[in-house]
Amino acid sequence: MTLTHTDPEHIAVSKSKGIEIDWKDGHHSSYGVDYLRDWCPCATCTGAHGTEPRPKTAATKTSEPANPFQMFKSRERMVTIETVGNYALRIVWVDGHGSGIYSFGHLRSICPCAACAAAPAQA
Ligand SMILES: [Zn+2]
Ligand SMILES: [Zn+2]
Repeated sequence: MTLTHTDPEHIAVSKSKGIEIDWKDGHHSSYGVDYLRDWCPCATCTGAHGTEPRPKTAATKTSEPANPFQMFKSRERMVTIETVGNYALRIVWVDGHGSGIYSFGHLRSICPCAACAAAPAQA
């Protein structure tokens, strides 16, 4: 079984704006920097070890219209984006936080587009 929906065909990175991914199944995902930071999958941000989860400000997967000005005043900024093997991206943030490994499965599951918000992909 080939999981093309978690296989990126093309990844475009802008450290100030975010990441865009074209998936092999033809889907397109666009993640703003703030959104990516809010969905950081590391233990600290998710509270996996009993720590207080980082508060999410814009992390709701709803189909509400996005704030049109949001992309121009991102709180966050990425300083390094590197691929991890063939399965993930590691993002280092401007404040030095860099323990989040964003697997492509995770990225696909948090795709903020209206279609995915209505019918979330299986991670
Ligand atoms: Zn984190
Ligand atoms: Zn989507």
